[in-house]
Amino acid sequence: MKNFQVAIIGGGVIGSAIARELSKYKLNIAVFEMGSDVASGTSKANSGVVHSGINSPHSSLKARFCVEGNKMFQSLADELGFPLQWVGKYIIAKNEGEINELEHLKKTGMDNSVSGLEMKGGSEVKKKEPNVSCVKALWVPTAGITLPYEFTIALAENAAENNVRFFLETKVTGLKKQQNHFLIKTNNGDFQAEVVVNAAGLNCREVVSMVEEPDFQVYLCRGEYLVLDKNYSSLINSMIYPVPVKELGVLGVHITPTIEGNILLGPSAEFIDDPYDKRTTKETMNNLIQEAKEIIPSLPDKAVINAYSGIRCKLALPESGGWADYRIEESKNMPGFINLLGVESPGLTAAPAIAKEIIKMISRLIELKEKNSFKSRIHGRKRFSELSTEEQLNLIKEDERWGRIVCRCEHVTEAEVIEALSNPIGAKTISSVKYRCRAGMGRCQGGFCTQHIVRIMGEYFNMDVTDIKLKSPNSNLFYGRTRGDQSD
Ligand SMILES: Cc1cc2nc3c(=O)[nH]c(=O)nc-3n(C[C@H](O)[C@H](O)[C@H](O)COP(=O)(O)OP(=O)(O)OC[C@H]3O[C@@H](n4cnc5c(N)ncnc54)[C@H](O)[C@@H]3O)c2cc1C
Repeated sequence: MKNFQVAIIGGGVIGSAIARELSKYKLNIAVFEMGSDVASGTSKANSGVVHSGINSPHSSLKARFCVEGNKMFQSLADELGFPLQWVGKYIIAKNEGEINELEHLKKTGMDNSVSGLEMKGGSEVKKKEPNVSCVKALWVPTAGITLPYEFTIALAENAAENNVRFFLETKVTGLKKQQNHFLIKTNNGDFQAEVVVNAAGLNCREVVSMVEEPDFQVYLCRGEYLVLDKNYSSLINSMIYPVPVKELGVLGVHITPTIEGNILLGPSAEFIDDPYDKRTTKETMNNLIQEAKEIIPSLPDKAVINAYSGIRCKLALPESGGWADYRIEESKNMPGFINLLGVESPGLTAAPAIAKEIIKMISRLIELKEKNSFKSRIHGRKRFSELSTEEQLNLIKEDERWGRIVCRCEHVTEAEVIEALSNPIGAKTISSVKYRCRAGMGRCQGGFCTQHIVRIMGEYFNMDVTDIKLKSPNSNLFYGRTRGDQSD
């Protein structure tokens, strides 16, 4: 049986941020993730906004960790190489009646020490955002955008480079306190750890119930998004938000530029029962377009190229306003069992600050000694398409695989696919490649490159075609060969 000092359940942005922060210390650390890669859950499917901290009341954990996390993002992006743009945000009042709410948000932001907040008149907004209609707006310059999956992958890969063990496709199925350690049961065998961190996102209640009776419920609230074609990227320059929907405890349908140059519309808010029900519907699509048109009347109907959804982990019912603070606490009955409950938005932004808090909690349980060998910078990936012609030619001279284009839409080379598949956490699905080097993310959505990625997986990584998966443990792409070697 393998022994660890700290076991983290969940490789979302929260588990990965904690793993990276812990990897600065001389500790044996394991992350158990039931998906085939990190960022398999909510951390992949959200708005990708680095919030400023104006939406949560002053004394809340949400406000504290959001403001602290926001301030940590630039240096993390410099160290880990994930993309980050401080595009800023307008929260708009569509009529006179909404202006009070803008004043309220400004006051909350100032109470939370968010800097640079300014009220702007409708005509002033028009100069910066010619397509947006409003009577007044609150300008929030400290809000930014990132790629949430790249951020999570960078945190996890840097943790792995600093010796954290990632166990993918490993679902924690049982937990038991035994003298001074926990016995952790998984589909891949049993493990032991002195401290267990429950960062299982939507499954946080299920994990608590493995050791004690939970004193809370989780309410799932699906948010659907529409992705607009890159041809419409000039519709907005910053993020455009309505005033928040208080009754549901959500921020409302906003219009957000993405790092890749698309525009997102969404998210909707619908309370559901099944955490795996990530469907997108025609009805919501129509509603999202109508709501977005209230902000940008000239929004074209035919701009949508894709849709996806993410699920909020709420601790409050819609009847009670849908808002509840995070619960980040060590179990009273089970010392050493640390729970992160209800980490909904702004969880992506708050992750780095939450990770620091968890280190403090763990330091009260285990003596933490800093490592001299911690490598804060990740081994960066080169993007062939972003290099100059001279740099591209030099790479091809060194290794001809830089000259073989595998993904024609995003101009990704064979060398980049091999590099993506050589990642330190051992993720090897078609999606793992997509989220690391963009092969398959373009207009044809993998129609051309999937066959080449499959070939590379066999040729360089000795993978049998029947073991190749799209994105999750049971998403095998092939049952067997119809031609060639069928001996097995
Ligand atoms: C619609 C929407 C929009 C959002 N927009 C933003 C935004 O713009 N900015 C922002 O700051 N925040 C945003 N958020 C919030 C943010 O996405 C979440 O707070 C954050 O991703 C939560 O991360 P997590 O690690 O807790 O959860 P997850 O990413 O869900 O990770 C939990 C992981 O645990 C794994 N797991 C579960 N059970 C087990 C088990 N038994 N064994 C092993 N593994 C297990 C899961 O597979 C999963 O990968 C948004 C959320 C939603 C839903």
